[in-house]
Formats: sequence, C-alpha cells, structure tokens
Amino acid sequence: MNTLLPTTVVGSLPKPSWLAQPETLWSPWKLEGDALAEGKHDALRIAIHEQSLRGIDIVSDGEQTRQHFVTTFIENLSGVDFEQRKTVRIRDRYDASVPTVVGPVRRERPVFVEDAKFLRATTDRPIKWTLPGPMTMVDTLYDDHYKSREKLAWEFATILNQEAKELEAAGVDIIQFDEPAFNVFLDEVKDWGVAALERAAEGLRAETAVHICYGYGIKANTDWKATLGSQWRQYEESFPLLQSSSIDIISLECQNSHVPMDLIELLRGKKVMLGAIDVASETIETPEDVANTLRKALQFVDADKLIPSSNCGMAPFPRDVALAKLSALSAGTNIVREELARSAPKAS
Ligand code: ZN
Repeated sequence: MNTLLPTTVVGSLPKPSWLAQPETLWSPWKLEGDALAEGKHDALRIAIHEQSLRGIDIVSDGEQTRQHFVTTFIENLSGVDFEQRKTVRIRDRYDASVPTVVGPVRRERPVFVEDAKFLRATTDRPIKWTLPGPMTMVDTLYDDHYKSREKLAWEFATILNQEAKELEAAGVDIIQFDEPAFNVFLDEVKDWGVAALERAAEGLRAETAVHICYGYGIKANTDWKATLGSQWRQYEESFPLLQSSSIDIISLECQNSHVPMDLIELLRGKKVMLGAIDVASETIETPEDVANTLRKALQFVDADKLIPSSNCGMAPFPRDVALAKLSALSAGTNIVREELARSAPKAS
C-alpha cells in the first residue's frame, strides 16, 4: 500500500432497505434462502462500489452479510445455545437478552471465509475484514460452562485464530479485531485481554488491527459517554500495553470525542487508524473538519503510520448520511495529503 494516509471504514455500513430494516441494529433479513444469499452478495458489491467511488483506499465488506458484529460469528460455533437466553448487562452499560454458553465452544465451519473470497474477487484494492475480539465476545454471552471470563476468552481466541488464518489465505490484507470492551474492563485488559487478543492474531502474516471505541451512536452509548467527564482517558490504560503487543494497527475514536489527542503518543511506532468521522451525529463533517482532526493527530503519529477512518461502524445511519461521510473522509484526507506533499523536501 503506497498511498499516504490510506482511508478506510472501521466496520459496518448501512444495508440496502430491500435486504434489512434500515437504521436498526440486529435488523432481521427481509429475504430468505437463495434470495438472501444473492441479496447479501449484491449488497456487498454495492458497498465495495460506493467505497471505491468515494475514494476509500482499504475496502471492507461493510458487514453486509452479517446481522451483528459479534452475534453472527457466535451463531456459527457449537457450545452456545441461542434458545437459552439470559438477560445480562453488556459493556456494564445496557441490558440485553443473550445466548448461553452450555458446553465447550468450537468453530463448526468457516464463518466469513466464503464472503471474504467474494470480496477479494470483487476489488483490486487492499481489503480489511473485521472479527469480534475475544473479550467483547465473552461480554455478549451468559457463560454457564467455563464460569471464567478469562478461560472463555482464551477458547474464543483459539477459534478466532483459526478463522483469521483462513481469511488470510482467502487474500485478506488486514484482519481487525473489534474490542469495544477494552474501554470498559480496564483491569481485565491488563490481566488477560491483550494476551487473548495476541493469541487470536498469532502467526498471521496479514496485518492485524484492534478497534477500540466508545460504541455505535445508539442511546445507551451516548448516555454512557455523558457520564465520562470532560476528558476520556480510558485509552491511557490500554495503549501502552498495545504499543508493546504484536498487534500492528490500533483503531481509535477521535472525531468529536473527549479523548485527549496526546494519548496517541502512547502508541508511537504503531500504525494508528484514526476516527475522523463521528458516528454519533448525522451531521456530515466538512472536508476541513476531517483535515483539522488529522492535522492534530499528526503531532503524535508519523504520517506514514496514519490511517484515516470513521470512529466506529455506521450501520445505524441512514444510507445517504453514511455515504456522504465517506466522501468527506476522502476529501479531508486529500487536503492533508496535499499539505504533506508541499512540505516534503523536494528531491533534486
Ligand atoms: Zn466501534
């Protein structure tokens, strides 16, 4: 990847309304059987086309083939009973009815590998694929078998590693693990969270990323953010551990957030996927808004290590809003690229 400041999206993009109910998480599919399979592929083609058209350099599937970033993966594992549901507090923030771990967890089949092959065959650009992180998976279930968050996370890490290796073989360039739980369970991050993440990424030749955020722009998350005070310093705990970890890229939320920009310095040496698009507001950033955020970040990250992105997934947005934000991300990044080119020493 030779482009300076390659742009990307963190994860989800809105699905077409003929495929799933818009602006809804866990939205039910509107199609069934073969029509659903065909519909998912068509949605994937559109997601790739829109990203390419709008200047996104590292293309993702926009999570068009999955209902939810964690649940869809877990549905393909044995040992989890989706009929036995318990209400638990997710991310220490909101109650949700979740499936129960009833026995040893195992990956029964590849989960996203066929979809990743389809993505690979549909674009020449570098591609990124997202998987849930071990801690976030643990935090989305009721465990009636291992009765230890750490043990269950370790099992999930082994399973994720199997899937990640097959995604890599399918031609995925960057494998990203989503760990929003890393901003909540700070002690567990230290005790076993980063170790489990490294286990999930073990032995991969593809670049690896971890995405840590303050969540989708849904009410439970925005209410939580309101309680975090004027400075959000959660990253201060995880960044030093990640800086010395085997993970290549750290993805963080930045646009309109209360994260002090200088915390990025804690990651010096790593690639930083920087959220320059807010996912909690439907207001479209201007290119200058994006450029400003990137300029500030460049005080703490080298230009050859900065990857402009969105703060988080954009599934809950109206489609036109999400797409306009992709264009703003590219346009703002182009402004900064030109500035960097002008200030670079000229070869004689
Ligand atoms: Zn996120």
